[in-house]
Amino acid sequence: MNIILLGPPGAGKGTQAQRLQQERGLVQLSTGDMLRAARSSGSELGGRVAAFMDSGSLVSDEVVISLIEEQLEKNPKVAGFIFDGFPRTTPQAKALDESLAHSGQKVDVVIRLKVDEQALIDRITRRFEAEGRADDNPEAFKKRLVAYNSQTAPLVEVYSGQGKLREIDGMADMEAVSASIARILDATLAEKSK
Ligand code: ADP
Repeated sequence: MNIILLGPPGAGKGTQAQRLQQERGLVQLSTGDMLRAARSSGSELGGRVAAFMDSGSLVSDEVVISLIEEQLEKNPKVAGFIFDGFPRTTPQAKALDESLAHSGQKVDVVIRLKVDEQALIDRITRRFEAEGRADDNPEAFKKRLVAYNSQTAPLVEVYSGQGKLREIDGMADMEAVSASIARILDATLAEKSK
């Protein structure tokens, strides 16, 4: 079963994806984590993407698509993937469909975490104070929200048109969000095994 977690930066996608990885044996694919790993390894790719990330802009489709394809090839026999922070643009969504189709797979369900923007800004301001991640500074964070609203939000329509979109309240506490996701996944699994 392949799942996309969709929602603005700071909505809690990473936390939920990690839980699903532990609880359901799915593999989490987070392009944000992959890009941060590339940077800390000091690779050429890491150097190329650093300025985009720190300013809150998106990295090119080409770069993130190739990172995802590499991981799909590396994990041919898993129970499924949780995509977190990917796709973030329409071309990325199209590339994902094509890559999955190569191995006879598809996106099964897209879970959208709905959030309140002001509450998100407050959350990330606290995370910036606690962890000091460069792209959490208020200016870069606002740019990440703008990028989400202009480049990623259109995917809501795309997946809703495909009948794959499910929406949950991302402002509820972590346990409640996990429980909503679990209900959706159980229903999706039941549907799949019909
Ligand atoms: P968040 O969801 O908190 O914004 P991520 O860890 O997903 O953070 O991403 C951090 C940064 O990495 C993004 O602001 C962007 O620069 C880059 N990035 C991550 N995933 C993608 C993607 N799918 N397409 C383009 N850029 C990406």
